[in-house]
Amino acid sequence: MNRFIMAVAAGILAAGSAQIAQAEITEAELAGDQASTGDVLTNGMGRHLQRYSPLDTLNKDNVSNLVPAWAFSLGGEKQRGQETQPIVHDGIMYITGSYSRLYAIDVMTGEEIWQYDARLPEGILPCCDVINRGAAIHGDKIIFGTLDARLVALNAKTGDVVWRDKIADYKAGYSYTAAPLIVNDLVVTGNSGGEFGIVGEVQARNVETGELVWTRPVIEGHMGTLNGQESTMTGTLNATWPGDMWKTGGGATWLGGSYDERTDTLIFGAGNPAPWNSWLRNAGDKNDGTGDNLYAASRIGIDPATGDIKWHFQTTPREGWDYDGVNEVVAFDGPGGEQLLATADRNGFFYVLNAADGGFEAAYPFVKDITWAEGIDENGRPIFNEANRPGNPADAADGKKGEVVFSSPSFLGGKNWMPMAFSQKTGLFYVPSNEWGMDIWNEPITYKKGAAYLGSGFTIKPNYEDHIGSLKAIDPMTGEWKWEAKNDAPLWGGVMTTAGGLVFYGTPEGKFLALDDETGEELWSFQTGSGIVGQPVTWDMDGEQYVSVVSGWGGAVPLWGGEVAKKVNYLNQGGMVWTFKLPKQLASAN
Ligand code: CA
Ligand code: CA
Repeated sequence: MNRFIMAVAAGILAAGSAQIAQAEITEAELAGDQASTGDVLTNGMGRHLQRYSPLDTLNKDNVSNLVPAWAFSLGGEKQRGQETQPIVHDGIMYITGSYSRLYAIDVMTGEEIWQYDARLPEGILPCCDVINRGAAIHGDKIIFGTLDARLVALNAKTGDVVWRDKIADYKAGYSYTAAPLIVNDLVVTGNSGGEFGIVGEVQARNVETGELVWTRPVIEGHMGTLNGQESTMTGTLNATWPGDMWKTGGGATWLGGSYDERTDTLIFGAGNPAPWNSWLRNAGDKNDGTGDNLYAASRIGIDPATGDIKWHFQTTPREGWDYDGVNEVVAFDGPGGEQLLATADRNGFFYVLNAADGGFEAAYPFVKDITWAEGIDENGRPIFNEANRPGNPADAADGKKGEVVFSSPSFLGGKNWMPMAFSQKTGLFYVPSNEWGMDIWNEPITYKKGAAYLGSGFTIKPNYEDHIGSLKAIDPMTGEWKWEAKNDAPLWGGVMTTAGGLVFYGTPEGKFLALDDETGEELWSFQTGSGIVGQPVTWDMDGEQYVSVVSGWGGAVPLWGGEVAKKVNYLNQGGMVWTFKLPKQLASAN
C-alpha cells in the first residue's frame, strides 16, 4: 500500500483529526524544537541557533558503536557545495541541494519521496557557489529560497507549489541561499548580493499566503514598510554615509537570522558595506574615521511585529576587509542566568552582547593572528591598526592600485557562515574557525547594475603550515580556549553538540567526527567520500538516536581561496546524505 494512504488510514483509525492535525506544525512546536527530540523543525535546532540536543542515548561511552543506517545521493550533474541542514518531521527528512533543489526522503529507509527542482533563469549572480543552507517548515508547508532571489512554499507531503514570491531582482545581483526563519506565523528572510552593490534587507511574509507584511532595509536612509505603507527610516540619512553611496550600500543579510524569545527579538546580521574600497565611503573627503557606514557589518535587533529596529551593534565600523557582520547570533544563558548573545565575527573577535539591548559585554580573539585591530575598546569599538588598512589608490603614482597590505583574518573570515554550537551541558561554544590571511589592495570602482562592486583585489594565504581549520571550545565568560582541534583544510561546515557530551562536525577531507566536549579527543569518525560543508543534526526514533549530515565539497573556498584553493584542489565533489544510528542492542555496549 502507498505510504500516504497508510498514514491517512492510520490517522482515521487512531484518533481522526487529532492524528492528522499532528502533522501540521504550529508556532508552539517551532518554539519547542530544542526540547522535542523526535524531530528537527528549525534551522539551528532551535531558533536561538544553539545546535544543542538534550539527547544522551548516544554518548561518550557508546559513540564508537555509531553505524551508517542509510545514504542518499543528490544525483544529477549538479554536484556542488552542499551546505544544507536537514529538517526531520513526521517520518520525512527534507534537505535542500545545490542549484536550488529540495528533496523529501523517507527517514527510515532513505528512499526518495519527491524532489523539487527550481527552474533557474539564465544570468543569476550567486557570488560564492550555487549553494543552499536549508528549508523552513510550518503548517503543511516546506519553504526555501532559490538562487534567483525567490521564496517557494511547497506542500510538505506532495512537493506541489503552494505559493511563490520574489524577494528581489536577480538581475541587480540579488540571490538567496539562507534557511528562512519562521516566527509568529511570519516567514522572515534576508538577501544575498553584497558584492554587487545591492541593499541588505529583512522581509517578513504571511506564511500561509506569502503576502509581504513588512520590510526592513539595513542601510541608513532607506525606508521600511509595514502592510504596504512606509513605516520608519533606517537610521538617519547621511549620518554615516557620504552623498548617494547609501543607495548601493551593501549590507547583505545573506545568512538569515535567529530569534531570541526571551526578548521577542529577531536578530539579523548585515554584510560588508559596498564597495569594499573603504576610501570611497568616508563621511567626508578625509580619512577622518567618521564614515562608519551603518548598519553594514552590524548585528541588528528587529521587532518581529513591525520590522522596526530595536538596537544595533556594529562589529566593524568603516569596514575595509570584507568582514561581513552576518555571522549567526546565538542566544544563551550565562552561568548566573544572565541573558546573553554571542557571535563569532568574520573579523576574528568573539563578541558577547546583552540580550536586552544588544549592548556590548565583552570581546575576545578566537583566531591566533589579528592584524587589522589592536583589540576592542570598552564600548565594543575596534582599536584600528591604521597601517593595516589597504592603501588609498588616490595616493598611488598611477592612481590605480593602492598599497598592498597583508591582513589577517582573510576576507573569508576567522569564521565564515558555518555555524558554531553552544552546549547547555558545558557552557562552552564550539567554534569552527580558520587561520588564514590575505594580501589585499584597493582600486577605483564605480557602481554598475549587476556588476561586481568591490574596488579591491586579494589573495588568501594560509597562516600556518600544518593547519588552517581550527575547531575551538571557547568559554564565553572568559574567552579562554579550552581546547583546539586542528585541521589541514579550512573548516566550512556546521557544528552540533549534545547532552551525551559529543561535538559533531565534518571536514573538507570528508571526515565526519565526534569529539569529547570537554577534551576535544576524537571518539569516532567516518569517511563520507566528499568534503563536508553541511550541518549535522540528531533526533531519536523508536528509542534509537540518529545523526545525519550532508556531504558534498564546495562553497566559497574553491572559488575565492587564492593559494588555499590551490592547496585543496585535490578534494572531490559529491552530494550524499549520510544517516547514522546507534542500534538499540549497542546502546549499552562500549
Ligand atoms: Ca525538535
Ligand atoms: Ca561580503
